[in-house]
Amino acid sequence: MKIKSVTAIWLHVPIPEDRRHRSDFGTAESFDSALVRIETSSGVIGYGEAKAQVGSASTNHALCALIEQELGPQLLGEDARDISRLWDVMYNGVRAHYAIERGHVFPVLGRRGITISAISGIDMALWDILGKSLGAPVWQLLGGTRHVRMPAYASGGWAPADRIAEELHGFIERGDFKAVKMRVGSGDGTLAHSIKRVHAARVGLGENIGIMCDAHGTFDVSEAKRFCRRVADYDIGWLEEPVTADNKAGLAEVRASTDIPIATGESEFTRFAFRDLVDRRAADIFQPDLSIAGGISEGIKIEALAAAYQIKLAPHLWGGALTFASGLHLAAVASTGFIVEYSLGANPMLHELAEEDFLVEDGFIEVPRRPGLGVTINQEFVDHYRVG
Ligand SMILES: [Mg+2]
Repeated sequence: MKIKSVTAIWLHVPIPEDRRHRSDFGTAESFDSALVRIETSSGVIGYGEAKAQVGSASTNHALCALIEQELGPQLLGEDARDISRLWDVMYNGVRAHYAIERGHVFPVLGRRGITISAISGIDMALWDILGKSLGAPVWQLLGGTRHVRMPAYASGGWAPADRIAEELHGFIERGDFKAVKMRVGSGDGTLAHSIKRVHAARVGLGENIGIMCDAHGTFDVSEAKRFCRRVADYDIGWLEEPVTADNKAGLAEVRASTDIPIATGESEFTRFAFRDLVDRRAADIFQPDLSIAGGISEGIKIEALAAAYQIKLAPHLWGGALTFASGLHLAAVASTGFIVEYSLGANPMLHELAEEDFLVEDGFIEVPRRPGLGVTINQEFVDHYRVG
């Protein structure tokens, strides 16, 4: 099953004005992704997704060029099923033979950033190929699912204090969700407004709905500590990225100051960054984004780290159908998996890129049983929204 071609397409989907949300990232005017397509000599085609940013909107020219012109050519003629070895080929470049012979990494550069995103999309497509070639869903290849359906939480929550409860109620109704996540931090203008919004959400939703808060890394350490202290009585499920990903010591300090669980990881690349979080005792919940962190192969390693240190796994699933499916498959297999994210912003890449629907009922989402990632790409959608 030789790799015949590796291509990447930037998909750029404008979001209608009445469906845009506003956060510290600005107004979400589009949803963008790099769609990776790998074709094999036996005719099996796999798809993956790579992301140039953690948010919805991004420019993907550089990412697509990396995939098509740097990494892809290294894989032509290789057996698509040798995923572990091919990951090392991409990560270690001309020194890959050392890595494979000697059992440790030899990266030439690109140890972080969009090189790893590019590897992520390719890795995902290779797992999709493996699953399709065996007629098995990816979760089966990873060890078999522990869940027929996973609990999902509604992710959104941008409205100001006087409308946040109404907005979150609207999300809950769309899938009978039992937990929601709202944004806090710089987008609120002041810390006082963030606290007021969380208060309004808790009062409006009552005691039986889980509330998580995501600061997008926008607090400084003292603000984050103050935030935790001021919302301590609102039963917050987790505080996500209180401070920037490059301040792991600060993150550990925030965690040590509060009993609110600290979640992080969507901005991190590879097992090595997650190892640093473990070393610092900086997190309770890991949230790798498999289209950023290194794909499904790296997700397995990150999950093993989490399991060894009693850290839970809740993958970052703010992305398209392939990112979503990959995280869902991993979470369903993981001994640390307990909940998955379901974006409630305008997300054409989740709902229209795939022929299938990812529907949440009673707060749960079914784990797909179709071969590979279980995503059938809507070619009309791709043709319509491709850039170039
Ligand atoms: Mg987040």
